[in-house]
Amino acid sequence: KEQLQQLPEDALLDKVILVTGAGDGIGKAAALSYANAGAHVILLGRTQGKLEQVYDLIEQNTKTRPIIFPYDLNTLNPDIAREMAYAIEQEYGRLDGVLFNASALGSKMAIEQYPEQEWLDVMNTNVNSAFYLTKALLPLLKAADAGRILFTTSSVGRKGRAYWGAYAVSKFATEGLMQTLADELGAISQVRTFAVNPGGTRTAMRASAYPGEDPGDVPPPEDHMPLYRFLMSEAAEPFNGQSIDAYDYLS
Ligand code: NDP
Repeated sequence: KEQLQQLPEDALLDKVILVTGAGDGIGKAAALSYANAGAHVILLGRTQGKLEQVYDLIEQNTKTRPIIFPYDLNTLNPDIAREMAYAIEQEYGRLDGVLFNASALGSKMAIEQYPEQEWLDVMNTNVNSAFYLTKALLPLLKAADAGRILFTTSSVGRKGRAYWGAYAVSKFATEGLMQTLADELGAISQVRTFAVNPGGTRTAMRASAYPGEDPGDVPPPEDHMPLYRFLMSEAAEPFNGQSIDAYDYLS
């Protein structure tokens, strides 16, 4: 916690960071927070109007150069992922970090009833797209001085819970992808790989998963940002492969 507080305000100066699901919720807060710390952010999401609002806020408040990638992760394929990597290289010449944050919640339903197509959609959005993008972006991340890959997990991705269906299974897979990458990359590169479990956080997804909850009872995304900034920074170099509970580091 002390290390998070000591992180300089411009800890991410001139870094290039891709944030998925950057139009709303935790991804929006992270994109704004990274830009405020000096990073050029690539805003990926499926609703262009939301991404444009985040873009405008960054333009008004920072000297950084954001760009927008309006893509639906459910239909992302390896060719599109490679085109994105090419576009990033053309625009910035490098990539320092990726925050895999976008997720689909899917239905809360028993596995016995879970619709097959929805299962595939959730797995595409939450897991397969992260694999395609990681594969396409790894050459750029490995070439960076301090490449960072942050995945977003959940408590239902560590211990199975009834009726959380494909979402829970996708978060188990996310933990597995993170650990495998961390083990592969930690020894041979400067890339560091983490997963963050935000815990209950005041967003549209949370309201949809817990409709009876008073949103005021859970912290807003901004309270997690010191941790999200730290893990993207060079200060995270000594760490690798951890799955971290953001509640332990709330500001
Ligand atoms: P939100 O639903 O508030 O925001 C998710 C963002 O991801 C939205 O901007 C959404 O776009 C985007 N997104 C969703 N599906 C796609 C897709 N197919 N293609 C591109 N973009 C997409 O979620 P949160 O901010 O709450 O969640 C962020 C992460 O944190 C998720 O990985 C979630 O699993 C995790 N998490 C959240 C918790 C919480 O309490 N909030 C608790 C534990 C984990 P659009 O706005 O256009 O729909």
